Amino acid sequence: MSQQHTVWVLGDGQLGAMLSHAGQPLAIDVRPVDIMAPTGDTLPIDASHIITAEREQWPESSTSLQLSTHAHFINGPVFGRLADRFTQKSLLDELKVATSPWQLVDDKVQADDLHQAYGDRVLLKRRTGGYDGKGQHWLKQAEATSIPNDWRNEAIAEQAINFDEEVSLVGVRTQDGRCLFYPLTLNLHQDGILMASIAPLARLSHLQDEAESMLSTIMNGLEYVGVMAMECFRIGEHLLVNELAPRVHNSGHWTQTGCHINQFELHLRALCNLPIHTPQVNFQCVMVNLIGIEKDDRWLSLPNAELFWYNKEVRSGRKVGHLNLSIHNTAALNETINQLKLWMPTQYQAPLDWILAEFA
Ligand code: ATP
Ligand code: MG
Repeated sequence: MSQQHTVWVLGDGQLGAMLSHAGQPLAIDVRPVDIMAPTGDTLPIDASHIITAEREQWPESSTSLQLSTHAHFINGPVFGRLADRFTQKSLLDELKVATSPWQLVDDKVQADDLHQAYGDRVLLKRRTGGYDGKGQHWLKQAEATSIPNDWRNEAIAEQAINFDEEVSLVGVRTQDGRCLFYPLTLNLHQDGILMASIAPLARLSHLQDEAESMLSTIMNGLEYVGVMAMECFRIGEHLLVNELAPRVHNSGHWTQTGCHINQFELHLRALCNLPIHTPQVNFQCVMVNLIGIEKDDRWLSLPNAELFWYNKEVRSGRKVGHLNLSIHNTAALNETINQLKLWMPTQYQAPLDWILAEFA
């Protein structure tokens, strides 16, 4: 017994493309939509179709309105709530999920008040629109930096967290409320942007239960359906939530190579109410983000590498692809990483060394 499934995606970037790719073998018709394309036409969306989004925020257009007001826009109210850091952090507090101490930057608060509350370094983050470290502003007591005027009521202030490292958990909640998870992923960010991920790691497994319990609380609290990602700071033996993404996530890209059901397929299965079980991990993987660099076919000569190229115009700081490296033995991984070090520009040397150090 089979049903024809059609899933429209609000947004047509790489996440939408990878959702389409994952839908193909299951004959799920995935249709990413460029919401800003100038079209007066209405989309041929049927009442039985399902709508999801590859981004948490979008400009209003006739297309985005048509998608976001559809009766089957799954998790509709969640997007706005998580897209605004003020309501996202408020939710974490309400659910008593540990997160970095924070407050709204309102009309009255002064930089001194924030330093008194959080210490000599305070991170201001725009409530909406920030990504890849954009929309951040550090207040430094020593330099007497002040709150930019146009950030008032538009930003939150966070304590600077002196974390040991960053990890994330990608999980799914089904329509009948079951929560399933991938193993924790170790992430390296450089200048606010994800450079590389490694998963799974035995040394993180003792944190898995704590992480799963946090993300279960969040997904259940929101009655969420589909894949959600939770970015965390590891401080000693505990986790603090940094932020949530109500969608498939860059730190879950390793599952395309490492798992028998990747995060894109898992999301589609949950949306379409298809059977779901815990994804098996086939290989440990390293994911290297390709940021602002031209495609290099030499990458294809690496025996343990899979290339995902997004076919976007290459611009500085822009995510244009990723490489998934499956790890069958450490010697082969080291060889690949050392080869990449010769081919990749300066900003990759530290992330590639970070990978080597993890397996040293
Ligand atoms: P994304 O692209 O994941 O949506 P973002 O730019 O929206 O990221 P965050 O994830 O909040 O914003 O921050 C980016 C990075 O900045 C984090 O991964 C972390 O490295 C650093 N960072 C964020 N908050 C803090 C904090 N309170 N203390 C120290 N570092 C932080
Ligand atoms: Mg982040």
